[in-house]
Amino acid sequence: KAKKNLGQNFLVDQNAILGIVAAAGIEADDQVIEIGPGIGSLTEQLLLAGAKVFAYEVDDSLPPILQTELPQKINGVSLADRFKLILKDVLKADFKADIGDFFDFSKPIKVVANLPYYITTPIIFALAESDLHFASLTLMMQKEVAERLEAKPGTKAFGPLTIAVQTQMQVKLALTVSHNSFMPRPKVDSSVVVLTPLTDKPAISNREHFNWVVKMCFSQRRKTLNNNLKTLVPDKDERKQLLQCLGIDGHLRPEDLTIAQFIEIAKEIPAK
Ligand code: SAM
Repeated sequence: KAKKNLGQNFLVDQNAILGIVAAAGIEADDQVIEIGPGIGSLTEQLLLAGAKVFAYEVDDSLPPILQTELPQKINGVSLADRFKLILKDVLKADFKADIGDFFDFSKPIKVVANLPYYITTPIIFALAESDLHFASLTLMMQKEVAERLEAKPGTKAFGPLTIAVQTQMQVKLALTVSHNSFMPRPKVDSSVVVLTPLTDKPAISNREHFNWVVKMCFSQRRKTLNNNLKTLVPDKDERKQLLQCLGIDGHLRPEDLTIAQFIEIAKEIPAK
């Protein structure tokens, strides 16, 4: 029985599963980290596409199912050197130590997952901060979160999450999956997003500080930037000077700024 508190919504629609594998562009011998294999529906197709899969699962009732059923499903392929499962919370992962010599770390790694939705953002942050060399992250998440990831300035969905992700990765929406494709059915539809690390990331020396400044700028989304900056720069004249110096109109709402402008603002605000 699916455990709600672990975000268990198993994919049952074969087209959706194949859609994820296609979006990830899986080829033979790809090294794939899967998060939350569940009952193995996606794992099976990853293995059949020729990938080598290292999976993190937190529910201890699932590994026995995976270990017995997967070999039958992928007839003839030896699982031993193709599939490894670790019973561990992915947020506590130490990727290189966990994976060990199962992967060749000189080659890029793909992440493919139908994420547990209650920890979508922390997982994305943990992956972004890891020192692994990723080719891409193909992640299924709630449609609304996907829209925030790929949002453009000037739209309602544009916010701190958009900025945190788009300063590190290119975001592409690959497909939308109806809530009917899951068992049990979640309330909302889902989207598959492909994240690709940027080759020329903007220089952000202190990410924690940057994310904090952005968060403060958005603390009251409907108010002006000038208003939101009051906590960060309490002095009115200083604030005016800062905005003038950066050539940013303080009457704008935070969602109307570009990512480059947030980077400029963060540079001018001293770290805590
Ligand atoms: N991949 C399967 C599928 O597509 O049918 C299951 C996806 S289900 C949405 C999410 C999976 O993540 C569940 O199997 C759940 O047990 C697992 N999970 C939940 N929290 C986790 C965590 N912190 N670390 C690793 N896996 C987790």
